[in-house]
Amino acid sequence: MRVTLLGTGSPLPDPNRAGPATLVEAGGLHLLFDCGRGVLMRLAAAGLPTPALLAGVFLTHLHSDHVSDFNDVVTTRWVTSPAPNPLGVVGPPGTGRFVDRTLEMLRDDVGYRIAHHEDLQWEPGVDVTEVLDGPVLLDVLAGAGVTVGAAPTDHRPVAPTVGYRIEHDGAAVVIAGDTVPCDGLERLVAGADVYVQTVIRDDIVRQVPLQRFRDICDYHSSVADAARTAAAGGVGTLVLTHMVPAPPPGAADEWVALAREHFDGTVVAPDDLGVVET
Ligand SMILES: [Zn+2]
Ligand SMILES: [Zn+2]
Repeated sequence: MRVTLLGTGSPLPDPNRAGPATLVEAGGLHLLFDCGRGVLMRLAAAGLPTPALLAGVFLTHLHSDHVSDFNDVVTTRWVTSPAPNPLGVVGPPGTGRFVDRTLEMLRDDVGYRIAHHEDLQWEPGVDVTEVLDGPVLLDVLAGAGVTVGAAPTDHRPVAPTVGYRIEHDGAAVVIAGDTVPCDGLERLVAGADVYVQTVIRDDIVRQVPLQRFRDICDYHSSVADAARTAAAGGVGTLVLTHMVPAPPPGAADEWVALAREHFDGTVVAPDDLGVVET
């Protein structure tokens, strides 16, 4: 499998880091995990010129930074598909409601484009599968020999939230999303080859004299948390992403060193478009 960190940023705008999004290529499928700021620009840079080619979108949770460009995925897939091409969307309970509201938001634009293009006479289709704990049962995955499982994570008061474990050809990749260490996360990462975890530097964030900023320590894994989770699960490679405060490009060595204090495996903290292969 091939894991591309499309966006390694966070809610804070950053000139070099797009919002949270990760592409997993497995069994010939392109699977997109979260749809943060700039996701389609990064997908294009990763070689996917249109989201019409995605086999599915998986949302870890409905926090704005993880779904801000979901509407762009829906619209651009629709207008670049020559025939109806419903988008499969997997996410925690509440995803169906979120998708309905997004389609409602897009209603005017859908009307403009159908009125303008004689050969575009269908609305964008979205097939939602809500998951919390267990296998994600989709024909497109089964047909490619790819297994995806979900487990609940702990990002309260944001709830429910899920992480995903993707398996193909004997390898396992985990996209954990925003969470503190918890039982569901432990189950997902056990024996995984690659574990992608959103992290913050709580040692820095706690010193910022803004309570609203310090609040983020409550519900995110610190670098040490992620490293301890990786060690307990015996994973191969820990991938740090969604770094707050984001280091400048190429300057995440300190983050990697902090993780290595708790984890003997490989640790990487890629810039946008960084690739990890199993
Ligand atoms: Zn979040
Ligand atoms: Zn986030």
